[in-house]
Amino acid sequence: MDLALTDEQRMIVDIVRRFVREEIVPLEDDLDPDADELPPEQLAKLVDKVKEMGLYGLDTPPEYGGPDINLVTRCLIAIECSQHRAGLYAPCYYAFGGARQAQLFEATDDQKNKYLYPMLEGKKRVFFGLSEPSGGSDPGRAIQTRAVRDGDDWVLNGTKLWISGADRADYGLLFARTGGPGRTGVTAFIVETQWPGFNVRRIVHTLRSAKYATEIQLEDLRVPHENILGEEGGGFAIANDRLSRQRVPYAAECLGVAIRAHEMAIEYSKIRETFGAPLSSRQGIQWMLVENEIDIRQARWLVMDGAAKADRGEPFRTESAIAKLVASEAAGRVVDRSMQIHGGLGVAKDLPLERWYRELRIRRVGEGPSEVQKHVIARDILGASLR
Ligand SMILES: Cc1cc2nc3c(=O)[nH]c(=O)nc-3n(C[C@H](O)[C@H](O)[C@H](O)COP(=O)(O)OP(=O)(O)OC[C@H]3O[C@@H](n4cnc5c(N)ncnc54)[C@H](O)[C@@H]3O)c2cc1C
Repeated sequence: MDLALTDEQRMIVDIVRRFVREEIVPLEDDLDPDADELPPEQLAKLVDKVKEMGLYGLDTPPEYGGPDINLVTRCLIAIECSQHRAGLYAPCYYAFGGARQAQLFEATDDQKNKYLYPMLEGKKRVFFGLSEPSGGSDPGRAIQTRAVRDGDDWVLNGTKLWISGADRADYGLLFARTGGPGRTGVTAFIVETQWPGFNVRRIVHTLRSAKYATEIQLEDLRVPHENILGEEGGGFAIANDRLSRQRVPYAAECLGVAIRAHEMAIEYSKIRETFGAPLSSRQGIQWMLVENEIDIRQARWLVMDGAAKADRGEPFRTESAIAKLVASEAAGRVVDRSMQIHGGLGVAKDLPLERWYRELRIRRVGEGPSEVQKHVIARDILGASLR
């Protein structure tokens, strides 16, 4: 496989890299180390610049006004956009349009007018409500939130847990059981957070700085039938589709952080002296840097392989699971070693390393824990009958 970038990709990478280094990194000097948002007027200026670059709405298909780029290029951009302190969970503070709920592109025209377009214009925020207290690894079986038909409405009762940003959202995709046990009994609903019966509370901050995870209690929440997204009973396919697609750029974001942490460790090892010689002259340090380099190269290869297969229209579920697994775990190791090389400075909030260290730990759980990625890979290589 040829991993060389095309001229266009090289140009895009250069532009985005300069944007991150000149526009994003300097403004973090004046922000709280755990900030995940910018004041609206500051963000608006950055969004204008990204629009001038022609890269606004990264996850939006071209027919809806997004840039016409393939997944490999999307991943190259993700690798650049995460290379700042907030970059793992708030890449460029969402100046590139942030992550989209891909399923909404399959919505009816009425649903698009009411929900999709305001979201694309940045006027409405959205959450993704799949996980429940009964478990997030296997939501097809675990979902207990119940939706019962009542005339033109559905009445929803149940609890969702760990849902990112539902406290600040205007609406969300919420998955509830309309049929029997298993995947085909789950339906996706578009629900508005202002409706009676929708109760949300923040869970105390997790290791992650960006966005609160929330718990949603549904008490006789009435949802109009026309707010079903896709088919009744087709919710799990919708959820799964989103998770597979997101996994590759998600892995690329981990890789971006690893690359920057490694660069910082290399630079620091050359200027920091102990016992009369630079750290970089010590074999113990060199080996850490070599292990970083190998972790990064392996992860990069696997992320690009997954993206390239998706771009060729080939099945890429196994590749996306491998990319997510390897990149999230490799990035954790790279940041850990890079912190070690920085000594006390590594754990100080002056540098982004401590935030990346905390937030990368969540990357091994969110979007499917490492063990679930292995479960997916095993199922694919052994045959779909594995439970
Ligand atoms: C900060 C944060 C934000 C989140 N945001 C969202 C969100 O916006 N929307 C949403 O729907 N969910 C969200 N989640 C939930 C996340 O997707 C789940 O936490 C995750 O899928 C795991 O589910 P669980 O926590 O219920 O763990 P469980 O399903 O109970 O699993 C526990 C552990 O068991 C292990 N395990 C599971 N299955 C297997 C297996 N087959 N073989 C071996 N080991 C296994 C894994 O190590 C796993 O971590 C978020 C979570 C966090 C921490």
